[in-house]
Amino acid sequence: MGNRSSLLKGHLPRPTLYQTHHHPITTGNRGGQGVALGYRRFVWFPTVVAECRSRLLQAGFRELKEAEHWDIQPEHKYFVTRNYSTLIAFAVGSRYQPGNGFSLIGAHTDSPCLRVKRRSKRGQVGLVQVGVETYGGGIWSTWFDRDLTVAGRVIVKVSLQRLVWVKRPVLRIPHLAIHLQRSVNESFGPNTEQHLVPILATTIQEELEKGAPKAGAPCAADAQTERHAPALLSLLCSQLGVKPEQIVEMELCLADTQPATLGGAFDEFIFSPRLDNLHSCYCALQALIDSCEAPGSLSQEPNVRLIALYDNEEVGSESAQGAESLLTELVLRRISATPQNLTAFEEALAKSYLISADMAHAAHPNYLDKHEENHRPAFHKGPVIKVNSNQRYASTAVTEAVIREIAGRVDVPLQEFMVRNDVPCGTTIGPILASRLGLRVLDIGCPQLAMHSIREMCCTSSVLQSVTLFQVRARPAPLHPAAPTPHPLQPIPPPHPYSYRDCRVSPSSR
Ligand SMILES: [Zn+2]
Repeated sequence: MGNRSSLLKGHLPRPTLYQTHHHPITTGNRGGQGVALGYRRFVWFPTVVAECRSRLLQAGFRELKEAEHWDIQPEHKYFVTRNYSTLIAFAVGSRYQPGNGFSLIGAHTDSPCLRVKRRSKRGQVGLVQVGVETYGGGIWSTWFDRDLTVAGRVIVKVSLQRLVWVKRPVLRIPHLAIHLQRSVNESFGPNTEQHLVPILATTIQEELEKGAPKAGAPCAADAQTERHAPALLSLLCSQLGVKPEQIVEMELCLADTQPATLGGAFDEFIFSPRLDNLHSCYCALQALIDSCEAPGSLSQEPNVRLIALYDNEEVGSESAQGAESLLTELVLRRISATPQNLTAFEEALAKSYLISADMAHAAHPNYLDKHEENHRPAFHKGPVIKVNSNQRYASTAVTEAVIREIAGRVDVPLQEFMVRNDVPCGTTIGPILASRLGLRVLDIGCPQLAMHSIREMCCTSSVLQSVTLFQVRARPAPLHPAAPTPHPLQPIPPPHPYSYRDCRVSPSSR
């Protein structure tokens, strides 16, 4: 079984997973610090595409623009972003010919959160507040009593997009004292319009602060000072080095300032915001970068290795940059395009395989009856294949057989999840991409608890297991529907040189 035992144990992957050249991690406390330093930036920065972009550039990927002509060459690496919230990165094998397949991994970059309204100025009883809108299906009660901040993008005159991130706690949604709501422990369901409005400052302090732009300064009806609290604008302006009147528009998310960390008696858990689905994004990105760095890796590759990290999954994927958009098809067509073969794209799709990576529900010890007894994913026991006959997940017997074959080769254990018949089933990008493109898709994800809480929980070994699995590229041959014994795998030369190194976050990538 080789590495299987090490992959099953949480404490073995941890020291190597986040190891850096500067801070070799050998003990629990230092390991926790290593994660907090190395992993938190990826999971914390709310515009995660910026972090992916910088890591890809450092790994030698070239940025493409949708509006420009692409000249795609074998053994080269590229990426493209849309709306700065969706990213597609790919590496072309040396032996690639138009019509060859795509080895794809899909995930999503967005998570439920609170977003600053376009006119956010609010306040009562001497307090400056910020109006927010809910995005996605969050567990909103978990946003109370957290040290919150804002991050996102600001459009500055003239048509300049700037990313902003206030790196300290500036907002708070306080609970109402139990003395004023005695039934809070029986049921707590905040009104999302009334009760989720964070506090930014007191009005008296805001007026005392000299740096805060005054309302009524040179302002037309739509000036930012009319729409947002001076204290909020002041924070953004000092971060960006601009004046309030230079700010044209903004898209800001609220985020928890507490960085991700290791936890548990043996440091075998990751406590983190947005595990769903930055865990999968991180693993897909790291697997793509590392797989290209392996010596000779691309020189033997006949396929295109591609990861697609989509925005807007949490609200149904129907947007210009969501999985439902034409973006994936357009990118795949542009990669395949050649005057010599007008059906290269169609031929490629029939040879392709997509891993749709999104987190899965681990069985909760306090709510065991929510899981069907034969399908209870557990920590350290591997990524979870998600199956649903009603097509909430796109896995089929064939795509499952492929991943089992791959996982067996690299000793990554797998688990299965099917929802109880009397419990509603979630869904993800897998069925969307399967139906849009006719791809063979597998839905898979690592087990976690507290999905859609502001602070979620998974196990350390799941990162190593995912990166290992994602690095081994499936190269399924075309499957004939009538084929009696589907065996879609070709040999994968050379044998995968698996090592812990695969999961390391190199210092240069930060
Ligand atoms: Zn998700």
